[in-house]
Amino acid sequence: MDFFEPAARLKLIPPYLFKEIDEKKEQVRARGVDIIDLGVGDPDLPTPRFIVEKMRAAVQDPKTHRYPLYSGMSLFREAVARWYQKRFGVELDPVSEVITLIGSKEGIAHLPLGINSPEDLNLVPSPAYPVYQMGTLFAGGHSHFMPLTRENGFLPSLKDIDPLTARDAKAMFFNYPNNPTAAVADKEFFQQVVEFCREHRIIAVHDAAYTELAFDGYKPPSFLEVPGAKDIGIEFHSLSKTYNMTGWRLGMAVGNKDVLAALGKIKSNIDSGAFDAIQIAGVAALDSDQSCVADNCRVIQERRDVLVDGLKKLGYDVDKPKATFYVWMAVPQGMTSMSFAGHVLEQAGIVVIPGIGLGQAGEGYVRMALTVPKERIEEALARLSRI
Ligand SMILES: *Cc1c(COP(=O)(O)O)cnc(C)c1O
Repeated sequence: MDFFEPAARLKLIPPYLFKEIDEKKEQVRARGVDIIDLGVGDPDLPTPRFIVEKMRAAVQDPKTHRYPLYSGMSLFREAVARWYQKRFGVELDPVSEVITLIGSKEGIAHLPLGINSPEDLNLVPSPAYPVYQMGTLFAGGHSHFMPLTRENGFLPSLKDIDPLTARDAKAMFFNYPNNPTAAVADKEFFQQVVEFCREHRIIAVHDAAYTELAFDGYKPPSFLEVPGAKDIGIEFHSLSKTYNMTGWRLGMAVGNKDVLAALGKIKSNIDSGAFDAIQIAGVAALDSDQSCVADNCRVIQERRDVLVDGLKKLGYDVDKPKATFYVWMAVPQGMTSMSFAGHVLEQAGIVVIPGIGLGQAGEGYVRMALTVPKERIEEALARLSRI
């Protein structure tokens, strides 16, 4: 590509750190090794049948074939409001406090275009889902990283944020249950975020993609459950992980109406909303008795137990997560996240994500996704026991 110069902003994208792993994966595969991929955070289980059936009927209806509303169907936004009320006890006005997204990644990536001016500063966790940093960067802003460490329970330490940085910050991204650390946050932490953001006039942006993927009866809270949250913040949610619908692209942002209006203004000029048939299927998902979600959690919980108990038995330093489909494991002494990931790929044909690839503070850890059947996890453990 030398007939044109790509946009300067593309040069600002941090180096892609998984290249080495990707190449090694191809080499190992070429040797004929049956690779066990614990790298991808994409459910292997299908979307529940009743949702697929609803989609099948909706797609037959020509009324769904036209341009959707960029902000989403009222039908879907009302279902989101009902679901938030039922699940979290949070009241939302479906007109002004809910917006449909083409997957939450779309909304997260577009939000900074609506709230950040060039050179603005956003507070972004490290390690983290990369989109907070990328969205900030594409909007011409900068990220100030908040390290998530084992010592602070993988929660940003708000008291350690320099007051001048806090003064300059426009938004703060945070995500619980957390990808990649699988940490959870309680309402007390959310309350601290509200106070911190109110004091420093920061927009709180919570990514709640994993609230429905929890174990042992634990029910992760919504950020909007704490008093004052809606005055200063929004929450992103998604049907992707809850209903195994990653390919469908359906999510929502809820909360502060002015922040949502800014996001909506960007969206109305960029996309034309989510396919109505998908939103109709989404209504069926949100209005259902949620037994499909419980079934899903049972499967993932069993995999979690097999993996974590097995890893512990092999002497690895790892905690059992309360939520998400990730296991965040410290690498053995003397190794880096990259060298350990290379080692298990080379020696055991297992793909794990090196923590450094998700942020500086992810060094020393690897992420494993519980998105393969239990039998494959058992096989992975057997292989690990031999290296
Ligand atoms: C998977 C994931 C999402 C959801 O993305 P969609 O675009 O809704 O599919 C959002 N945030 C985090 C942290 C995730 O891991």
